[in-house]
Amino acid sequence: MHELSITQSILDISLQAAQQQHARRIKIIRLQLGQFCGVVPECVQMYLDVLAKGTIAEGAKIEVIEVPLRVRCLDCGRESDIDRRHIECPFCKSIRLKRLSGREFLVDSLEVDT
Ligand SMILES: [Zn+2]
Repeated sequence: MHELSITQSILDISLQAAQQQHARRIKIIRLQLGQFCGVVPECVQMYLDVLAKGTIAEGAKIEVIEVPLRVRCLDCGRESDIDRRHIECPFCKSIRLKRLSGREFLVDSLEVDT
């Protein structure tokens, strides 16, 4: 149910932004997603299809921009962007890492018809 409320806020933000641009239709909604934000894009798309019915966002597609996970190594102190499949410091291979980002979740931009 997590994605349902998230999708509602994505839709609200998008409709508001589209209105400011005097858009007639929203074609694409681009989202920035951190690798650890826990949001499944397919679910967002599914809910959007339902929630957007009757609005100018009806039929809009979700596009995801993945934000890399940035960490600081607690052993060597260096910062790096890592992949969640390789959670270790690329410099010293330590797994004692502090997460600096990865929970981002925001509407990046819209593609609209005006
Ligand atoms: Zn390190």
